[in-house]
Amino acid sequence: MALTKFILRKVRLPLKFAFKTAKTTLFTREILILEVQDDSGQSGYGECVAFSEPFYTSETQEMALTTLQNLDLSAISALWESNQLEDLASLFPEKLPMTQASLEMALLDLKTRKAGTNLVESFFPQETLASHVFAGSVLGEMPEAELLKQTAILVEQGIHRIKFKISPTTNLKILKAIRNTYPDLQLAVDANQSFSDYRKLLTLDELSLACIEEALAPVAWQDYAPLSAQLKTPLCFDERVLRLSDLQTLRQELPNPIWVNLKIGRLGGLYATREIIAYCKKENIPFWVGSMVESGLSKSLHLQLSALPGNAMPGDFADSAHYFEEDLITPPIQFSAGNLKRPDGAGLGVTPNRKALENNTTAIYTRLFD
Ligand SMILES: [Mg+2]
Repeated sequence: MALTKFILRKVRLPLKFAFKTAKTTLFTREILILEVQDDSGQSGYGECVAFSEPFYTSETQEMALTTLQNLDLSAISALWESNQLEDLASLFPEKLPMTQASLEMALLDLKTRKAGTNLVESFFPQETLASHVFAGSVLGEMPEAELLKQTAILVEQGIHRIKFKISPTTNLKILKAIRNTYPDLQLAVDANQSFSDYRKLLTLDELSLACIEEALAPVAWQDYAPLSAQLKTPLCFDERVLRLSDLQTLRQELPNPIWVNLKIGRLGGLYATREIIAYCKKENIPFWVGSMVESGLSKSLHLQLSALPGNAMPGDFADSAHYFEEDLITPPIQFSAGNLKRPDGAGLGVTPNRKALENNTTAIYTRLFD
């Protein structure tokens, strides 16, 4: 089947709350949704999770939009027809992994949807994926009373793990109070690279956290060593690791345990993510699956990845309704007592909600393959 249409949408999903991290406050999530159609009229969907501003990595939605609008469609067709989707990377600048991942996602969705197979299962044929995945939540920075209240609500809902966003102005005593109230709950923190003095993080050890994510403002790889050496809690890496070679360097520089937060967009797609998972297994680096305040299309892949054997803790997953009035999939993600049946349908595993997609599209660009 030949590719026929390349449809790029700017989509704006208002958030139900202001999501505050050390680097930004999000009120609205703007994403790009890419749809590729073939001559049978079937579609595959990809989501570009680059943010509007470069607070997370240097890649922005504007860069993604320009790149996707100017892609050589005949080169994509050639890779599609010769079944060489692993080579899509050759069409993209190295600094745009999320843009690259969105095209790969759309084409892989179309390919597996047509074959009637599940994309993630087909990527890991040797592995048995868990039938259910667990909810883990992220709480942004907020007033202390509100943080306590939100934590209690999540515990009541059956949450399996909570990750708190922290920055140098966070009162760490509040986390100590939460730990004392819930001694057995799995907890983690994410500083989004906001601490420049590592000694301020040493007291976190007493909280029995699963990991401390992106603790330090960007430093040379070896400069994580003093913090890592003085903590019992493992350091976890997210935005600092964009490719396999970053993780390999960390492994060499840090003698102590490290964890990695997997996000398909940041790592440049599923092929690259699979390679990193294989490396993690070889080197005994615990991995788990994060999220990008993304729509259910992209999140469905993250949910499924978290069902892989070896996944170290529940991902950053909550109900669609926690974030958005309407999600781009139907049915929306909805956990029951902290558990969700793993999406296992064809392609991405979920059904796109065309009406929601149209409702939230702010611009649309259509091109035709030759
Ligand atoms: Mg993070």
